[in-house]
Amino acid sequence: MDELVNLMEETVLNKIDQLWKQTDYCTCDNCKIDVAAYALNRLPAKYVHSLEGTLIHRFESSTTQTDAEITAVVFQAIQRIGENCHHDKK
Ligand SMILES: [Zn+2]
Repeated sequence: MDELVNLMEETVLNKIDQLWKQTDYCTCDNCKIDVAAYALNRLPAKYVHSLEGTLIHRFESSTTQTDAEITAVVFQAIQRIGENCHHDKK
């Protein structure tokens, strides 16, 4: 188990950063983890051996889950978490 990485996790985290730029929602670390958890629970995990992971990562767009599907789920997560922000905004 020590050498496993979830490619979907990395993809989702990158996607959150991309999509957040287009919104006004809170972008603190707390919200990022909430958004990532929400999205990752709705997307299939994609575990690979970490040695292959860096290589395979380059081909993530050819996985069964299309980029458009991931974008839709992550955007939904951002809206959901952003509108129910559980901590005080400044
Ligand atoms: Zn926040």
